[in-house]
Amino acid sequence: MAVVYIDGVFYDKKEDAKISVWDHGLLYGDGLFEGIRVYNGKIFRFDEHMKRLYDSAKTLAIDIPHSYEELKQLTIDTVRRNGKPDTYIRLVVTRGPGDLGLDPRKCKHSTVIIIVDDIALFPPEPYEVGMKVIIASTRKNHMAALNSNVKSLNYLNNILAKIEAVHAGVPEAVMINIHGYITEGTADNVFVVKDGIIKTPPPHVGILVGITRNAVIDVAAEMGNPVQEALMTSHDLYVSDEIFLTGTGAELIPVVNVDGRTIANGKPGPVYRQLLENFRKKTKVEGTVVFTQEELDAMQGAAV
Ligand code: PMP
Repeated sequence: MAVVYIDGVFYDKKEDAKISVWDHGLLYGDGLFEGIRVYNGKIFRFDEHMKRLYDSAKTLAIDIPHSYEELKQLTIDTVRRNGKPDTYIRLVVTRGPGDLGLDPRKCKHSTVIIIVDDIALFPPEPYEVGMKVIIASTRKNHMAALNSNVKSLNYLNNILAKIEAVHAGVPEAVMINIHGYITEGTADNVFVVKDGIIKTPPPHVGILVGITRNAVIDVAAEMGNPVQEALMTSHDLYVSDEIFLTGTGAELIPVVNVDGRTIANGKPGPVYRQLLENFRKKTKVEGTVVFTQEELDAMQGAAV
């Protein structure tokens, strides 16, 4: 079951959750969002997501009509209404309804949407055997045009790269910037392992500083193998020992082929497996409590 909150009203039926066709989120992609996971009744890295949401709103000069704490509570209420201990939250704030021109001043109030629904970005198989990707010819938006840390509703740059992946018959594309440096996937960050060293592109090449990326950096440090930020080109991907992508939706997913080049022995590597195991442990225990242990036990009992 999905539960949707829109501007003060909760909807329990997907088909009832609707917004205006005058909303600039629809007309111009004028808005922002966050994707957040709930694991074991706890919202993973909730404050990091909320801070990023308010930061995106600040740059886009969109007024979120709730205090930080109010919006957190509304989100928790929506998750509780949904009633599932493992699920996904999509928080969306748009410029709101306006007229047919771009002028943001015509939008008198922003639209706040909270969707709680399950998500599966990729089927289970590639998590076991790894997936193939391409490096897209579509270049990553320049940081001076739109800072990649603004998690805006305008994903056309990434969607063009995803279309290239679809045409190439692979599930995902990695994007390079105008200087030829690896940035990120269409909705995920990139990690590379070479000679035991874990590397990921630095923020300034034009990436979203992913919250899963940060969690993997924490896990790697705890394993005594700190991640290094490094500029990389397609060559560095082809000759790497391991590659994996990270994101709230995708979690950690191994890559075993890039542009037709098999990565190492073509199987998910040991560093990936170890990081995944430790990441999973973290998601079980960390987070903002939505359902108490008693409630979780009652849900389990009801499920048996
Ligand atoms: N890059 C892009 C472009 C994304 O859209 C996302 C998340 N959807 C990520 C990276 C990963 O970020 P996070 O780990 O915070 O979900």
